[in-house]
Amino acid sequence: MRKKIIAGNWKMNMTPSQAVALVNELKPLVANEEVDVVFCVPAIDIIPAMEAAKGSNINIGAENMYFEESGAYTGEISPAMLTDVGVKYVVLGHSERREYFAETDQTVNKKVLKAFEHGITPIICCGETLEQREQGVTIDFIRQQIKIAFLNVTADQAKSAVIAYEPIWAIGTGKVATTAQAQEVCAAIRACINELYDEATGSAIRIQYGGSVSADSAAELFAQPDIDGGLVGGASLKADFGKIVNYK
Ligand code: PEP
Repeated sequence: MRKKIIAGNWKMNMTPSQAVALVNELKPLVANEEVDVVFCVPAIDIIPAMEAAKGSNINIGAENMYFEESGAYTGEISPAMLTDVGVKYVVLGHSERREYFAETDQTVNKKVLKAFEHGITPIICCGETLEQREQGVTIDFIRQQIKIAFLNVTADQAKSAVIAYEPIWAIGTGKVATTAQAQEVCAAIRACINELYDEATGSAIRIQYGGSVSADSAAELFAQPDIDGGLVGGASLKADFGKIVNYK
């Protein structure tokens, strides 16, 4: 039985002092030990958010990470910087990073490998555009993203990974994929992992749905057999996140 994982993606929101206030507000609301709860926050918020989350079930994660160990990469954050302060999760390949910061399937793969090397669990994002969905190439496109993201990743590593299926047309738009659409793609992702590795790996890996998840849509989405939780943007910044975490 896979444990659900519900992660917030704060994006470029919340100053450090606002982050502390939000963690303090949400702490009692997300106190559900049945699911893994992760707040992926801007790099500058990681340390204060961790301090605020101490003693709670909240894991503080990062929104991005570079694939080199250290050096002349101005503005980047290294895996050792994250592990040094206790970060265990990192979002990789979010569609906003692909669109605005030139992330590619290849750089995502390098980051995934580096995250595993440092014992950080990657939350690997994939998802199609509206145009791709309308052209009927969603599954082919996502299979390609997954195959590249997992190049040279071992089965043991893959078992511990998290994949976030996030249709781009559903992110921040208020348009949630239907339950059937989300389940169909998450099942196809699991089938792809089964093919790349084996069924034991496919049934261990956790696959989230992301894209305008709300307190209203969470229960039905998370009840699907191949949806193991969610990656939540907008609604993770408000008390609603507590309802999403306690979706049952
Ligand atoms: C996201 O940023 O990963 C996301 C799914 O955002 P939203 O929930 O706001 O659509």
